[in-house]
This record gives sequence, structure tokens and C-alpha cells, in this order.
Amino acid sequence: MPVNRITQLSFVNAYLVEEDDGLTLVDTLLPRGHKRILAAAATLGAPIVRIALTHAHGDHIGSLDKLAAALPGAEVLISGRDARLLRKDKTMDPGEPQSKLKGGYPGAETAPTATFTAGDRVGSLQVHAAPGHTPGQVAFLDPRDGTLYCADSYSTLGGMATTAKPYLGFPLVGSATWHGPTALESARALRALDPARLAPGHGKVVEAPGAAMDRAIARGA
Ligand SMILES: [Zn+2]
Repeated sequence: MPVNRITQLSFVNAYLVEEDDGLTLVDTLLPRGHKRILAAAATLGAPIVRIALTHAHGDHIGSLDKLAAALPGAEVLISGRDARLLRKDKTMDPGEPQSKLKGGYPGAETAPTATFTAGDRVGSLQVHAAPGHTPGQVAFLDPRDGTLYCADSYSTLGGMATTAKPYLGFPLVGSATWHGPTALESARALRALDPARLAPGHGKVVEAPGAAMDRAIARGA
């Protein structure tokens, strides 16, 4: 499967995943990113039938409202935990680290049509829990080709890094992490999936990323 990456301002990614029934959009860029996403879908010649959000930060949900308006039939999916952040409910769960939420949570007018949890499927994609960067972040593994859409559990901008703490190559994403130890645990769990290719929220797609992920985990510990 080709990885269809759409980039805005050279540092924010969304992806179009090809399915038998159309396209799954993974994340929606910043505000004003909708036109390039719709243009990319038109180039692929298929409709966007679902919008799957990895987490509720503004650079991943920024164009959600515009896209939902343009795609009235599309499903809108996010984890139950980050769905609360999508409606700007910043209360914490009693069982989770009571750390301060960081990064921008601008919220959206659009409500999800459904929520998912780890183990669910979104089209062909398997949902994997990847909390830490946000409380309810997920990653999506495409078992057809081993591509891991890892959201902000790893960034490849300025080099491969976890987001457990700010990384010199691209400090922004690590600075927006809610709970570093949880993020590092998630980075390890995603590494254990042994992805063939890593498609992050920020930075280029990396083939055969295992060794680089190991080094990033070792630095993040
Ligand atoms: Zn983020």
C-alpha cells in the first residue's frame, strides 16, 4: 500500500488510507488544512468515508469542522477519552496521572459519530492505545502492510524521537506531552508491534524503523 501523507507548513501530517469502500483520513491538520486534504482525496479518486483522529490536539483536529461540513456522510471517530477533550472537557479520570494537560485543545463543534478503544478496527486499521502524549491518544496499525500511524508517540522531524520529553531536534511535540512516563511506555508498546514503516504526526515516513525506535526509546528513558 502506498502511504499517502499530506503535510501542512512542512511539519504537520495527515494521512489518507485506501480501503475498499473509500478513504480513511487519519487526522485533519491545522485550521485551513481541509482544502489540501480534499484535493489529495480527489487525486486518489476516492471519497473520504471516515475521519479517524489520533488525539485531540489542535494540529490534529484543526480542520475537522470544515471537513465534516464538506463530507456529511463521513464517520468521525476518536477514542472515548480524547472525545472529552474534543469537547473541551479537561476533567481528569480518577485512575490516571493527575498531570497538567499541555498543548492546545481548541475543541471542535463536530461531535464524533462513534468512539473507539484499543482492539477495535477502523476500516482495515487496528486501534492501539498510545496514551501519554494525551490521555487518550491512539495509534493505527495497518496489518495489510505493517504501516504504523503512530500519531505523536514518535516524531521523525529532526530525527526519530519519542515524545516522552522535549527532544532537541523538534521540541514542540514533546513539550505538549501530558505524562512522559506513560508516553515512554506507549512508545515501547508500539515498538513491540514491530512495524514495517512508521508514519508519524510530525516528520517524514520512515521505512524499517525498528532500530531507530530502539535508540529513541533508549534516549527517552
Ligand atoms: Zn499532539
